[in-house]
Amino acid sequence: MNDEFKKLKQKLDEVKDICLVSHIHPDGDSIGSLLGFGLALENINKKITMIKVDDIPYKYKFLPQVSKLKNYEENKKFDLLIVLDCSDLDRLGSFKHITENARYIVNIDHHISNTNYGDINIVDHKAAATGELVYNILDYLNMNINKEIATCLYVAIATDTGSFRYDNTHSRTHYIVSKLLEKQIDLKKVTFEVFQNKTLASTKLFIEALNTLELYYDNRLAVVQVTQQMLKKNNAEFNDIDGIVEYIRDIDTVEVACILKEIKEDEIKIGLRSKTYVDVANIAKVFQGGGHIRASGCTIYNNISKAKELIIREIGLNLR
Ligand code: 5GP
Ligand code: MN
Repeated sequence: MNDEFKKLKQKLDEVKDICLVSHIHPDGDSIGSLLGFGLALENINKKITMIKVDDIPYKYKFLPQVSKLKNYEENKKFDLLIVLDCSDLDRLGSFKHITENARYIVNIDHHISNTNYGDINIVDHKAAATGELVYNILDYLNMNINKEIATCLYVAIATDTGSFRYDNTHSRTHYIVSKLLEKQIDLKKVTFEVFQNKTLASTKLFIEALNTLELYYDNRLAVVQVTQQMLKKNNAEFNDIDGIVEYIRDIDTVEVACILKEIKEDEIKIGLRSKTYVDVANIAKVFQGGGHIRASGCTIYNNISKAKELIIREIGLNLR
């Protein structure tokens, strides 16, 4: 890994024009690590382009300088492309072609399913968040971490660890966060914006989605679903149901929790979580998805009832 850090340092010394990008359906880690690293590189006078491949969820719009995240200008070329929090390049969705316009790719990620697609690969599945890896890089490069950068990295780590509760949290996570907190992050504001700022519409959708709860395999699997019709009825969007799959995982008997989101009639996005032993990254892989042992996702191109049948069967093979 040290070699990869050294290679990154050399490359950053050489190049000027750097683009940073992360995955579709952005979360706190993707936006926080991208923005945190982008702002730090700007401070050492690099020409930085930060690309959004999707809309920024409402709760991350407070992040410092988030308006610097811009749409991709078609065909624009870069010396260096930094891809964050993406296990493979399909995670860039319809913007995958950006990679063809970059001379060199740096892959910074913590997914166990990472395919090492970069010229430099800083990949560590033991890191709780990509934000941790960005911290390690900034520390190695002796780059200044100001309050704004610290806020971004804090959000990255706090969201990917479920506020330091999941078992991906380790002593280094807390060490890094203690260093970030030394930068006088406004924790009250961060907690409000990220965790205590839900709209009533999203809460109503949450209740309706919770009402679809079904349990299988002696209550070890919990499943909920959200259809387009439910979104329309509540005037809400998919980002609004964040947290429901974690909520049903918390049921005492449950080992695996699954959410099915109807993107289109024949396109169902699946989110999986496990509690203690099931490797849900492996289950997602069966359907060309990926992720972590305790949190993963995939898309099944079928109608929602067929998708449900397929995923339930696969999960059943993994329960003991
Ligand atoms: P979520 O359920 O929150 O969307 O995703 C949980 C985890 O699985 C995240 O770490 C996310 O990056 C990963 N993930 C979700 N969907 C996919 C997918 O379609 N492909 C891959 N490779 N990873 C995914
Ligand atoms: Mn992540």
